[in-house]
Formats: sequence, C-alpha cells, structure tokens
Amino acid sequence: MIETLRRIVQEVNTADNLEITLDIIVRRVQQAMNTEVCSVYLRDYPSGSLVFSATAGLNTEQVGVVSLDEGRGLVGLVASREETINLESAQSHPSFQLVPGIGEEPFNAFLGAPIMHQRKILGVLVVQQSAARRFDESEEAFLITLSAQLAGAIAHAQVSRAVERQAGSVAESFTKVNGIVGAPGIAIGTAVVVSHAADISLVASKTTSNRRAELRNFRDALSKVRIDIEEVSRSLSSELSAEDHALFDVYLGILDDSSLGGEVARLIKSGQWAQGALSQVMMRHIKHFERMEHSYLRERAVDVRDLGSRVLAYLQEEDQEERIFPEKAILVSEELTASMLGEIPRENLVGLVSVRGSGNSHVAILARAMGIPTVMGVVDLPLSSLEGWSLIVDGYNGVIYPNADKDTCSRFQALADRDLAVTKELEPLKTETCKTRDDHRLTLWVNTGLMSDIDYSIDLGADGVGLYRTEIPFLLRESFPSEEEQRRIYRSQLEAFAPRPVTMRTLDIGGDKSLSYFPIEEDNPFLGWRGIRVTLDHPEIFIGQLRAMLKANEGLGNLRIMLPMITTVTELNDALELISRSHKEIRLEGWESNLPPIGVMIEVPAAVYQARALARRVDFLSVGSNDLTQYLLAVDRNNPRVSQLYDHFNPAVLQALVSVAAAAREEYKPVSICGELAGNPQASAILMAMGYDILSMSANSILPVKKTIRSLTLKDSVNLLDEVLQLDDSIKISSRLNQVLFENGLEGFIHR
Ligand code: PEP
Ligand code: MG
Repeated sequence: MIETLRRIVQEVNTADNLEITLDIIVRRVQQAMNTEVCSVYLRDYPSGSLVFSATAGLNTEQVGVVSLDEGRGLVGLVASREETINLESAQSHPSFQLVPGIGEEPFNAFLGAPIMHQRKILGVLVVQQSAARRFDESEEAFLITLSAQLAGAIAHAQVSRAVERQAGSVAESFTKVNGIVGAPGIAIGTAVVVSHAADISLVASKTTSNRRAELRNFRDALSKVRIDIEEVSRSLSSELSAEDHALFDVYLGILDDSSLGGEVARLIKSGQWAQGALSQVMMRHIKHFERMEHSYLRERAVDVRDLGSRVLAYLQEEDQEERIFPEKAILVSEELTASMLGEIPRENLVGLVSVRGSGNSHVAILARAMGIPTVMGVVDLPLSSLEGWSLIVDGYNGVIYPNADKDTCSRFQALADRDLAVTKELEPLKTETCKTRDDHRLTLWVNTGLMSDIDYSIDLGADGVGLYRTEIPFLLRESFPSEEEQRRIYRSQLEAFAPRPVTMRTLDIGGDKSLSYFPIEEDNPFLGWRGIRVTLDHPEIFIGQLRAMLKANEGLGNLRIMLPMITTVTELNDALELISRSHKEIRLEGWESNLPPIGVMIEVPAAVYQARALARRVDFLSVGSNDLTQYLLAVDRNNPRVSQLYDHFNPAVLQALVSVAAAAREEYKPVSICGELAGNPQASAILMAMGYDILSMSANSILPVKKTIRSLTLKDSVNLLDEVLQLDDSIKISSRLNQVLFENGLEGFIHR
C-alpha cells in the first residue's frame, strides 16, 4: 500500500495544473482500489457548493458543469460532517440524492473521504462500485491516507489556477496568496522573476521580440554544451569500453533537432524566449521520465535535467542584453538570496517575494534593514508565470495579491500613501528624546548586521545598537572569516556608533541559519545545536570571535558582548570563562582593551525561570522575543503551517516577559528586549510598563515607536498592563492594544 501511495503522490506532485492533478488522482485511485468509479468534488468558496471536478468511471462531460448545493447528497454529508462515509448501498441512505446526468445510477457501494487542508474542507474524494458491499477497512484506510496526503497538492494547484486565470485581465474576484511577513510595508509594482543560476525548473515564461536572436543564442549554447560533453567523452576514452562510450552519443542525441532540441527551437519560433522554451520542454520531459515505473527510465530524468542546466548556464551567460527593469520592480524568486538584491537597481526595487524562507532568513533581515516590504514562504505561488504581472506585496500581513482588481489596488495604494505620510510626519522626531508625557525616558536602540545599516540608523537617532547579529557577515562569506577580518568588521561598527554602545551577539548559527561552509544537519535544528551550544563546542571559533571583538574595542570602549541561546548557568559560566581567557590573552599581547559589559539573551523558557541566577552573573539581560515565543508556544517560527499560532501577544509570552523584567530588577541589572516585538508600536506601552529599559529594533521601527511612547504616560501604561494581564487570549489583548493606539491618534501604526 505504501508503495502505491508513494507512486500516486509522486505522480501528482509532477502535475502542471489542477485538471491534470485531479485526473491523475481519479485514474490512479480507480486502478489501485480496483473500483468502477473514482471522482473528486471540489468545494467552491464562498457558495459552499461541491463541484463535480474529475471522474474516472462517470460521465466526464459533466465535469465542471454539475454541482451539489452545500450540504446536499452524500457528498455534501461527507463535507459537512468532515468525516468518511462508507455505505453498502448508497441509494438507501436518507441523504442520498441522485445527481442527474453523471451516470451514477448503477452504483451501490459508496465510500467518500473529505479532503481537508489547514482545517478547511477542499472537497470530497469518492469511490463507488456496483456490487452492494461495504468497502473493507484497508480500502477505507487507503482512501483516507491518500486524501490527507493529496490535500496540499490540490490546494497548491487550486491557488495556481486561480492566480493564472487572473493573468492579463483584472478578475472580478481574485486570489490572494498567503506567505509569512518578511519586512513590513506595502509595495505595488511589477513582478521581476529571478532564478538561481542555471536552475532549469525556475525560469520565467516570457515572449521575445527578437526570435531570430533567441534562436541563435540557443544554437550557440547547444554547440558549446556539445563541445563540453565531447571533451569529457574524449578524456574518458581510455577508461571506458566502446559500449559505455556509446552512452555519450545517446546523451548528446537528446539535444538533436530530431529530439528535444527541435522542440525547443519550435517553441522559440512561436515567440517564447530561449530560456523559457528550454525550461518548458526540458521540464515536461523530466516530469515524464520521473513518472516512469521503471527505475532505469526514471533516472533518465537526471540526464535531461543535467543537459538542460548546462544549456541554460550558457544561455544565461549569453544573455548580455541590459535588462530594463520596471520603474517599480518587485523581485520574486524561488529562494531569494542577498546577492539577488543587487540584480535590480535600488531605486527601482520596491518589494520582495520569496517562495521559500521565512521572516528570519537573512534576506528578510536585510530587507527590514533596507525598508523593503517583503513576503516570504509564499509556497503556493506559481512562479513561472508571474513575470511582468502587477503585484501587491502586503508586508504587514505576509500576503501577495497578483493582478488585483481596481478596488483592492486603490485600497492598498491608500495604505501605502498613508505609510508615506506617516513616515514624513515622523521625520522631525529624529532629534527628539524618547520620553512619555509624564517624563519617563526610554532608550531606543537599533538591531544591525550590515554595514549599510549604520548611517541610516544614526540618522534616525538610534541611541545605540542593542543587537548586532554577527552571523550576518559569516553568512555572506564562503568560509569562516579570520580573526583579523572580523576585527576590522567589528571595528567599523564600533567606530561608526561610538560613543554609543554596540551590543555584539556572539555567533548564533544553527536552527535555520546554517553556513554553507559549516553545514549542520539535524532532525530538529531549532532544538539542536545552535547559538552558544555550537560555539562552546568549538572554542577555537568562539575565542577567535571574542578576541576580534575585544581588540576592535581598543581605544573606543563602547563594546558590549551578548550570549545567545543560553539554557543553563553552566553554559554561561563556561562562556564567561572563555571571555575572560580571551581578554587576558589579548591584554598579554599588548592590546589596551577593558573587559566590556556582558549580557545574556533570554530566549529559552528555561532561562526565564533562571533569569535571576543568570542576571547575577552578568551585567545585563536582553530578551530575544522571537525565539522565546517559538519555544514557549512550541511553534517553529519559520513554518507557514503553524504561523497563526506564533503570536507575541499570547498571554504566556507576556507573563514570561513580566517575569524576566522582574528578575532583572531584583538583581539591579538593566533589561532590554531585542526581538521583533520591541519594534511593534502595539507593544510599546506594555513593555515600558513591565520595566524594560531599552527597546532594540529594526531601524525603520524607531520613529513609530518613539512617536507612540511620546503619546503615552507611564502611569496609564502601568494600568493598561494590569488590565491586559487579566485577559486570557491574544485576540483580546491585541485589540485592546490597538484601541490604545487608536485613542492616541496612532491608528496609522495598526496593521493587523
Ligand atoms: C530573537 O530570538 O528574538 C532574536 C533577537 O534573535 P534572532 O531573531 O536573531 O534569533
Ligand atoms: Mg534568537
């Protein structure tokens, strides 16, 4: 059963569109279960009716034509109950309703399984047979398992189809595609799809105005690949038998005019650009081979992919023509990387979209630093057809609107205009102090990681750096930077902000931040080897970094060192010992550098309960609310499936924050917060009331938070905190906090 399931799921995953997806499902299930009928009914939103969407065994002419009103018939019953129904004789069931025209009269036995995706019913998968016998347990189990496994693929195909239907014309009702917040803000512009070099599956489709030149480029690329392969073949001639050698000819034959080469050329002649034509033809054949039962033939997919990638690489090299970018470009990619950001001139780049990745990917951190609205993890986005489309990027909610209707465009344009107006209005605050109406002062620091952050942050009036993510320079390199290289990088951060303090966090890799040159493969990376756990196990890396920081601080004295992911007091003691050892070493080597303040990040629930013991040993605490939220709520911060559960305003998170602030106060140590929550104006009042001395955030959040604090009083905020702590769910908490913003004329900062 497992093998049959695997094969069906694999085949479905290679389907190009919804019709093919459903067709494969009904045919394969009919075959595998040896039944006379298999059909899929898909739920239409918002009407709730179930549309007869695919069948093997009933009248295919009625596909897409017939539908059942919500709750009608046995299919409606499966959908409304959201459970499987298995009947020996469908027609004697009280809910049975004959659907005229689809030809189900001869069939007695009925087994229907709901297709559920993210708690929503997508449709119903039904098998029927004329013999009046109940489907047995293993058949029922098979259908349920298959339905659960295919729900994601059906949902993906549905979104792709809805989105593709919007191409060219502005649809009346249109589809939004959900992702994860990458960087806040609204962007309205034109999609520019960029691919990783030579990834044959990720090439955008577009027409060309110069077919002849495209054809020439294709032929040139083909001959270069031929030469390369003949070269390999020649160099191996002494080691291979004549038969083995003949394989190279077969391999090269794939590119001939009589084979795939000819198909690509025909597509180019019909107006497709060379890269798009190559990708379409190659991907069709790759999918075809991948579906083959025979493993030898299945493996031919690898050959076709390899050849396609080789030709594509040359085409990309040949594609010298200066790309002309739309005035407002939205960069879209399967997996955005920092280097891709450089492909579009900054003045044209208004938004970013990535199919993979999360709000914590370094490209998202970069986007926040640059103030570019970004949506990550848009897994259902049909990438290959998006080139040139109009797109709205809602970076506040992590949603993309492709080819939206006029009303939606105007609504988002109004939001973007409002943002612009709010930003302008905030400018004069750059030089103002951050204090409440009743004169309580709060320090606002900035989170950095890039050289480009520095001037911008200083201009915005940041009082210091509360979190310098040292892993970013590590992520942007191809090997560990040397101690001297690190010293120079840290020195420029410290110099730029001096005399303002700069809090450097020691290397926080692992989890989702892995270095290409130091791969960490684990089943549960967020519960595994990350942050201080890695650096304590590799003192040579840790000490090198500490020495570089301490040396960089010579003559400046504005360094603070912060330790990530501390879970136990022992880890802290070990880290403190290594810091002290590094300090002694560099002093002996003649560097004039004092021991800087040292702090611990509170990111793990264990550290919340140990906060006093930790605070006693260091100079400050800083809450990493991003990780603390993920670990308290047991929600992977990068997983789109559970992103609705990832909520900073969960009462448990607020209780933990209160308790950390209290622990720090009891030990007379300053406490800050440097996760995303610190930059959220909704949270400003309660964080201040909890006793946080410093809020450290992305540069773009500084002025909105300053404006919020300046509109509040500490006294009212303390009362508000008391009130909020009585509330038992995050929706109530969030709306109460929004109400406060509203009452203070700060509704411009409400984005939820
Ligand atoms: C955090 O976890 O809140 C934090 C600031 O660290 P990072 O987001 O880099 O994990
Ligand atoms: Mg963290």
